Amino acid sequence: ALMITDECINCDVCEPECPNEAIYPGDEIYEIDPTLCTECVGHFDEPQCQQVCPVDCIPLDPDHKETREQLTAKYDALMAAK
Ligand code: SF4
Ligand code: SF4
Repeated sequence: ALMITDECINCDVCEPECPNEAIYPGDEIYEIDPTLCTECVGHFDEPQCQQVCPVDCIPLDPDHKETREQLTAKYDALMAAK
């Protein structure tokens, strides 16, 4: 999963771009639900939120490192639950 750092300026451009609806406004800045973020695996070649963030504040989450296989499995599970 990716994460949003405290450099976030709450511009709201990333939230509608997420195919998994993993991004939401938190108490102070936008946040990513790591259980929903597939790093865009299954939907796009590149993480869409990273592409649009004007301040480049969406790195990989070191606490939620996942392999491509794990991300694909998460995508499959999310699609199955829809
Ligand atoms: Fe959503 Fe993709 Fe960003 Fe994860 S990487 S939060 S799935 S847009
Ligand atoms: Fe924050 Fe970047 Fe999302 Fe804007 S695009 S709300 S600055 S994380």
